[in-house]
Amino acid sequence: MTELQRFHMLIGGKAMEAASGAVFESQNPYTGQPWAVIPDGGPEDVDAAVAAARSALEGEWGQLTGFARAGLMHRLGDLIGQNAQRLARLEVNDSGKLYREMIGQLNSLGTWYHYYAGLADKLEGRQIPVPNPNYLVYTRREPVGVVAAITPWNSPLLLLTWKLAPGLAAGCTFVIKPSEHAPASTLGFAELIAEAGFPPGVVNVVSSQSRRTGAALAGHPGVDKVAFTGSSATGRAVAHAAAENLNKVTLELGGKSPQIVFPDADLQAASNGLVAGVFAATGQTCMAGSRLIVHESVHDELIGLVSDRAARIKLGDPNDPATEMGPVANRPQYEKVLGYLKTAESEGARVAYGGAADDSLGGYFVKPTVLTGVGPGSTVVREEVFGPVLSAYTFSSEEEALKLANDSPYGLAGAVWTRDVHRAHRVAAKIRAGTVWINAYRVAAPSVPFGGYGDSGLGRENGVEAVNEYTETKSVWVELTGGTRDPFTLG
Ligand code: NAD
Repeated sequence: MTELQRFHMLIGGKAMEAASGAVFESQNPYTGQPWAVIPDGGPEDVDAAVAAARSALEGEWGQLTGFARAGLMHRLGDLIGQNAQRLARLEVNDSGKLYREMIGQLNSLGTWYHYYAGLADKLEGRQIPVPNPNYLVYTRREPVGVVAAITPWNSPLLLLTWKLAPGLAAGCTFVIKPSEHAPASTLGFAELIAEAGFPPGVVNVVSSQSRRTGAALAGHPGVDKVAFTGSSATGRAVAHAAAENLNKVTLELGGKSPQIVFPDADLQAASNGLVAGVFAATGQTCMAGSRLIVHESVHDELIGLVSDRAARIKLGDPNDPATEMGPVANRPQYEKVLGYLKTAESEGARVAYGGAADDSLGGYFVKPTVLTGVGPGSTVVREEVFGPVLSAYTFSSEEEALKLANDSPYGLAGAVWTRDVHRAHRVAAKIRAGTVWINAYRVAAPSVPFGGYGDSGLGRENGVEAVNEYTETKSVWVELTGGTRDPFTLG
């Protein structure tokens, strides 16, 4: 047996074991074997990390100009590029995601730090005209303070970066709690923080096997803002905990995103977009396009195209460049996906392709699955499966398509497939979701806001506006005459 890799937490600039000395093993979902030893941090480690983040905010980091922060962020972006292969391997070992996807993510991850470095030195206030004579009023943009960043197991570094890059630009400090299922890449990434030259305590990472540690961080009185990505159920608990402290919160939660296919669409392109939307990353993405709402006249042809491609998807070793779909990331998730397939069957769904585990490969493999015969009330249509399962149902008019698309508590993303330019924009405007793609699926960039309506979340990540989620606006009033005034009136 190969030796397990050892990782450490980062607290106050130091590589740390848990205060209790406890550790846990991280499993590789492809081999089913443990591959890494991770510190099992607890509330006392959270306390130490929050104290370190506070002390950095009030110390050296808090004194730096936006220009200096930008310099450090550029260096971090460069270092990520130089370490992309190592970090991508850590993500693959932890989550079973494909190396070919993760190396792409890691090669572009530095762009986020470069993009937000470009904003760090442009956080301008305003001089505001007022009706009160003899006052100068201006605003300052100040960091919110200590941010708790809590992340899920799918694409840990990308989803962390969507918080860390705008937050560092704003001058915040961070305590990060990665998922118990995929903590290693975040701990590996933390090693670059000191190398980039950030002062100790600006970025801290506490790993833990227990979900109670995340709860301790979300509700910590020393934290000023909670930035969370994960399931809607946990998001609600996090929002409650943050509200107890009257803290700011951003939530990036689950989705059940619709892909509407009109009869005039390029069906080859649409079927490719459906595969990208729900089978890439084994369907384990928040933005998975898991509901196919297709015009009744092209249903059979499109289901044929998607099922045919699904049957040719190459399942296997995530490290093999030829592999197109890896395993589900962990045992509970694997069981959850299979449970949804059983429920779908009992509710009368028909399996056009897949519908079961693939036991031939070992590991937690589920066949890419296309279900038909479902309806807007089916469990598999209403709930997030977070696996490679596409559920298809039909419409006959544009109005009906929109009604079906918007009949969901979620509102993260969606797509419209049509060659009619008028219809494309009309429908895009009416889908209640934070992102709509027209004749495309699953594209993201640092400069484009991302987030959800309804149960899919609160606030936005990415784009220029994301920095606002990490700043407070302070209004400063300056009396210009040096005189006194009637103290018993509002000025
Ligand atoms: P999860 O909600 O189970 O866990 C997310 C994180 O929260 C983990 O680090 C976990 O340890 C921590 N946590 C658990 N209980 C907590 C508590 N009470 N207080 C504070 N933290 C707690 O989610 P997951 O299973 O790791 O990730 C999958 C989910 O994430 C899916 O629902 C998916 O849609 C969603 N997601 C959303 C986006 C987005 O950008 N909208 C992106 C990726 C994933």
